[in-house]
Amino acid sequence: MRIGIIGTGVAGSLLAEALLDSPGIDVAAFERVAPGEHAEAGTGLNIGPNALKALRRHMPARHAALREASLPWHRWFVDLADGTRLFDLDMLSVAEEPGVRIRWSELYRLLRAPAAGCTRNAHVLEALEEDAAGRLVPVFRTPDGLTRHGSFDLLVGGDGRYSRLRALTAGEPTSTLLGVCIWRLLVTEAADCPYDDYGQWFNGNARLLSFRVPGGAVYIAGTFPLNGSETIPEAMKTAEAQRALFTPDGGTPGPAVAWMLDKIEEHLPEIHWARSATSPVQRHAAGGRALFLGDSAQAMVPTLGQGATQAVECGVVAGVVLKRGGTVAEIAALRDPRVKFVSDFSWEASDTLVPPCDVVAGTRAKMQAPFMDKLRQLYTDVV
Ligand SMILES: Cc1cc2nc3c(=O)[nH]c(=O)nc-3n(C[C@H](O)[C@H](O)[C@H](O)COP(=O)(O)OP(=O)(O)OC[C@H]3O[C@@H](n4cnc5c(N)ncnc54)[C@H](O)[C@@H]3O)c2cc1C
Repeated sequence: MRIGIIGTGVAGSLLAEALLDSPGIDVAAFERVAPGEHAEAGTGLNIGPNALKALRRHMPARHAALREASLPWHRWFVDLADGTRLFDLDMLSVAEEPGVRIRWSELYRLLRAPAAGCTRNAHVLEALEEDAAGRLVPVFRTPDGLTRHGSFDLLVGGDGRYSRLRALTAGEPTSTLLGVCIWRLLVTEAADCPYDDYGQWFNGNARLLSFRVPGGAVYIAGTFPLNGSETIPEAMKTAEAQRALFTPDGGTPGPAVAWMLDKIEEHLPEIHWARSATSPVQRHAAGGRALFLGDSAQAMVPTLGQGATQAVECGVVAGVVLKRGGTVAEIAALRDPRVKFVSDFSWEASDTLVPPCDVVAGTRAKMQAPFMDKLRQLYTDVV
């Protein structure tokens, strides 16, 4: 069986590694960026304990490499911008092991390395053709022009939220906007940062999220309601607007928020601005000849940090099923109910980011049994 993987991000790299040297499977991967160029490098992310559990069970070498390149995510606290504590969670009370905090560039480096031998870089999927037997033939744009590498029994979309494979075989998905802006920043000179593990700080529905990542750096993400606007107002992309957004009424921010506000001012041009959105799940198309994993199948709102985390689960599960000769329908049966639960839960957990939700009541509700039970299911219910 010849399998072609489009995109070696999170899901694509893990699947390529899992299928290498599998009897009866010939795997080839195609990646848009050049070797060693790690798209999105410069920011950080947290990966949930559920991804670590999936790797521990099925890809122990990758689990060990990820642990080594990251910091453990042991604690999750939520404060108001003045420092008042609302929520404090020991991750091991809802998970079997801690999650991780890592730089994007490191994550891509350690996931892409094992599959480097079967990956063709600087290949951008552009079009699809069919051979006489009905197998798909991807057409790539490379620096030397359009090129083909033969026919495939299965093409796997690991090409992210704006998947070209999905667009070509199933049409462009329609996104649903949550109505909030989310921005991200990596501060590399952060020795004086007054916190370490994963924290969130609310001022009204506006929220800062931050934690240390390896190499003395700190990742900061800001979220604020767009109040009905379809676009992010330019007026909000200034240091003054962000300072006003996160400074408590008539008060002074606590030390953590004060530190972040200074960093926002220093690094404003480096901030990446986006809107939080979700799109409907699509697992396969083209009569089972195209399979989608990670964001290409299931873009979700980032509130619970499950985008890359679910892409890990996808890559691991698809590897297990395809190695034993299973079908895309089997992958869909294992993944789709799980992804629906995670996507719905991520949307529901976003309540405190959008008016008129009361942040104090909404956050305290998250310390109660119904939310904690779902969190336990999220972090442990792994194939
Ligand atoms: C603001 C923000 C914060 C986030 N924070 C977190 C977090 O803390 N934790 C978390 O788990 N997730 C987080 N996410 C989500 C996470 O970024 C994605 O869900 C995750 O990267 C999806 O993995 P993937 O393997 O599906 O695709 P990606 O990692 O996006 O990889 C796609 C790959 O395909 C390649 N590619 C794209 N198009 C083509 C093409 N046409 N031809 C060839 N190759 C192509 C790309 O170069 C890339 O290598 C965040 C997202 C955002 C926007």
